[in-house]
Parts: sequence; structure tokens; C-alpha cells
Amino acid sequence: MTAQANVGVVGLAAMGASLARNLARHGNKVAVFNRSYARTEHLIDNYGDEGTFYPAKTVQEFVASLERPRTAIIMVKAGEPTDDVINELADLMEPGDIIVDGGNAFYQDTIRREKEMSARGIHFVGMGVSGGEEGALLGPSLMPGGSDESWERLKPILESIAAKAEGEPCVTHIGPNGAGHFVKMVHNGIEYSDMQLIAESYDLMRRGLGMSPDQIGDVFQEWNGTELNSYLIEITAEVLHKKDEKTGQPLVDVILDHAGMKGTGTWTVQTALMLGVPVTGIAEAVFARGLSSEIELRDEAAKQHFAGPQALIELGDDERKAFIDDIRHALYASKIIAYAQGFNEITAAGKVYDWHIDLAAVARIWRAGCIIRAEFLDRISESFETGQADVLLLFAPYFKKAIEECEASWRRIVATCAAHGIPDPVFASSLAYFDGLRSTRLPASLIQGQRDLFGAHTYQRVDEPGSFHILWAEPGQEEIQTSK
Ligand code: NDP
Repeated sequence: MTAQANVGVVGLAAMGASLARNLARHGNKVAVFNRSYARTEHLIDNYGDEGTFYPAKTVQEFVASLERPRTAIIMVKAGEPTDDVINELADLMEPGDIIVDGGNAFYQDTIRREKEMSARGIHFVGMGVSGGEEGALLGPSLMPGGSDESWERLKPILESIAAKAEGEPCVTHIGPNGAGHFVKMVHNGIEYSDMQLIAESYDLMRRGLGMSPDQIGDVFQEWNGTELNSYLIEITAEVLHKKDEKTGQPLVDVILDHAGMKGTGTWTVQTALMLGVPVTGIAEAVFARGLSSEIELRDEAAKQHFAGPQALIELGDDERKAFIDDIRHALYASKIIAYAQGFNEITAAGKVYDWHIDLAAVARIWRAGCIIRAEFLDRISESFETGQADVLLLFAPYFKKAIEECEASWRRIVATCAAHGIPDPVFASSLAYFDGLRSTRLPASLIQGQRDLFGAHTYQRVDEPGSFHILWAEPGQEEIQTSK
């Protein structure tokens, strides 16, 4: 086989096939390979006329069909299969070639793989791909890591297939080794939080106000014309308006209330714990999915143990309208917190791993193609670009004003949820984080006192430098200084 393809794709399931088609539609000459040939055949039979494809039956044929220096994008199952495919390719490739992993890899695996490949002279690029199957076909948001040299070579290819926001391609070089997959992981964490907040808003209108899915769908449709304008709000209206063909009922009523997850939300929270960054909204969203899976337990708790207060909130027409506005404001404030916490996590990791991530650029490439695309990402990128968010996104004037305008509504919603027994883990935890943030003095002083009593962990004083310990068991319980 002669080397004619400028790029290749390995793994032709939903994501890989769509990405290969997107590449071919944009004038790339695309080598394609899948472990089982049936998928390759399916792609060529159904979409072969969309551009230039070079189907390969073996990995050897695939590598031989790539122009030197070679570029191969892997879109296979994350974990061991990705390692297997990387090693198979690397054995046939040469120094200077590029392997891109577009799967949802854990960023620490990407750091390890990059190190292993770079020892063999091969550029390894962990690349976050967001937007699902449709995004991969029509324009994803792309978050590549890896070396500067590999980015220079990949740039024209990736820019050709990425989503465009105001004409700008939604792809940027995030940083070295695992930076791309790290940012994709946090993107997914924010997605969890955003989705849970929308679900909590729906629940308040459904259980709290007794509205039908159709009516709530109309509210979300209206909200999409406000500061909340985003892909997730748009699709929420679509889902709520959808009827089940079998029963004629609203689809949302026949779907089992057990939210699935594939692990990226959990990674975001585990990593945040390790970095010591509070991502309370994301964590609560992950836990909420966990609790949703306990269907039998919830049923037993509700039917046999805890009736709780009446969920229905009785309101007159005007009060109802005002309450729905309150929900919108609570949603907006909590969403700002979720994004701010996500960006804090990226900042913290950037320092630990020496990544120098341009946060404004990250916000810009999330404006189109990806699941969390939202109008307010323009404001986020401006805030980072102008240095207004250097300390904290919430301190940037636009977000400070937004939070101030939403604050009273946000508090009313959290208080109402508590009074009516409607769970609002992300609304409530976001508000608690906000209140913690604006506390000059927290009860952590008491915790330090307890820690010193039971474990001699020492404490610091507000009026003197150094570490101190009370001789709790001694008569007089005197304070001693343990370090200066
Ligand atoms: P899957 O994650 O379902 O993976 C299936 C593909 O992996 C098939 O091509 C399969 O080959 C191949 N594969 C599995 N095991 C091996 C192995 N040991 N050796 C070689 N190939 C193997 O496919 P998706 O298209 O859904 O996702 C691809 C990647 O993209 C995943 O890492 C996923 O996490 C990520 N991703 C997915 C998104 C989505 O919305 N689905 C969004 C963003 C990223 P075969 O046909 O022979 O079984």
C-alpha cells in the first residue's frame, strides 16, 4: 500500500467513524482501521463517497498508508484497549510520528503514555473531544495536549474539523502531556453540575409547583433566550416536550430515574480532593447520580419510613411567576459557581504540573461544539483575558454583579427546598460555598482546637506567629509553643 493519507483514525465505533467522516469532508485523506473489519466496511459502504478514505484490514496496512511523518488518531475504548492500540502502532511507527488519543483517558494515564512514547521519539497527544457523536461529525470542541511541535503539525488538521464559534475554530493547544485530557475531565465535571442544576430546577417546578413537563419545557425554552442561553437548556426543552410513542405520556415520565455515569465526573472530584480545591457543585452532582441509582432504597425510605413535608408549594399566579424567576436566578448563580470551581481546579493543576493553561482560551473553545457550550462563556473568556478574573472568576465585575442580582432569589430557593423537602444538593452546596467564601471568620478555629485536644495537631494564633499546643492533660492546661 502506498503512503497517501495525511491522517488516520483507529477505532471506528460511533466517535471514530464520525471523526473520520468529518476529516474526510474537510479535504483530509483519511486512513481508517478498526479491530473488526465490519465497522471499516460499514463506514466505506455508507459514507465512502464523502471524501478520500484508505481502508486498512490490518494495522500494518494502516500504518503503511500514512504519509511520513505519520499522524494517527485513536478513538477506541478507554483504558487497556487504548494502551494495546498505542503499543501496536508505536511498534510500527518511527521517531517523529504522532499518535493522538481522542478517547476519554484519565489525565495521569496520558502523562504516563506521553513519557513512554517520548522515550521512543514518538509524539503522544492526549486530546479531549467533546460534543458526542454529533459533535465529532459536525464539529467538536477539541482539547489537545502534547508537545508544541506536535501541535504545530496537528493545528491545520484539527482546525479544519473543529466547531466554529464566531468563525474561530474551537481548538487550542491546552498544554504539555496530560493538560488536554485534564481540561476535558473538568469540562465533563462541569457538565455533571450543569445538568444536575437543570434537573433540580425541573424538580422544583414539577413537584413544587405541580407543573406538567410540557409547561416546564416552555419555561426552559423561554430561559434559552436569557443569560442562561446554552445547549443544555435548549435540549432540556426538547426532552420535556417529547411524548413517548408507546404510551402517549411525556417521555420524561416513562424514563427510569437512574442517571448513568462513565467516570469522568468521579475523576474530577477525586482529583479536586487531591489538589485540595473545593468543587462542591460537581461533587454533589456526582453523589446525586449515585443516590439516583438506589431506586429500591429510595422507595423503601419514602413509602415505609419518612413521609417528609408536603412538596407542593401553594402560590397565587403572581407569586408563582416570581418563584419561577427565582429558580432561574438560583440556576444562574449556581452555574457560575460550578464553572468558577472548575476553572479553579484547572488553575491548581496547572501549578502542580507546570502546564501554563490559558483559561481565556479554554473558555473560548467551549463556546461551540461541546456539551457545556453557553452564551456566558464569552463573558468568562473576557474576564480571564482582561485579568479581571486573575484572583477568582467571581470577582470579575460581570460575575460579581450577576451573583449580587441573583443572591436573594438563590437564598429563597434553597430555603424553600429545605422547607418542602425537595432535594437541591447543587443549589444548596453552591450557596454554602459562596457563604463560606465570603466569611472572614469560619468555625475552622474550633476544629483546630478539637484537633489539638485529641491529636496534639497544634494550631496557629491570630496574634502571634508559630505553632502552639495546649497541654490538655496537664493541670492548668498550659499553652506551649511547638515551632516559631
Ligand atoms: P467505545 O468506547 O464503545 O469503543 C469501541 C471501539 O473500541 C471499537 O472500535 C472497538 O473495536 C474498539 N476496541 C475496543 N477494545 C479494543 C481493543 N482491545 N483493541 C482494539 N480496539 C478495541 O466507542 P466510542 O466511539 O463510543 O468512543 C471511543 C472513545 O471516545 C472512548 O474512549 C470514549 O470514552 C471517547 N469518547 C466518547 C464520547 C461519546 O459521546 N461516546 C465523547 C467523547 C469521547 P471493535 O469494533 O473491534 O470492537
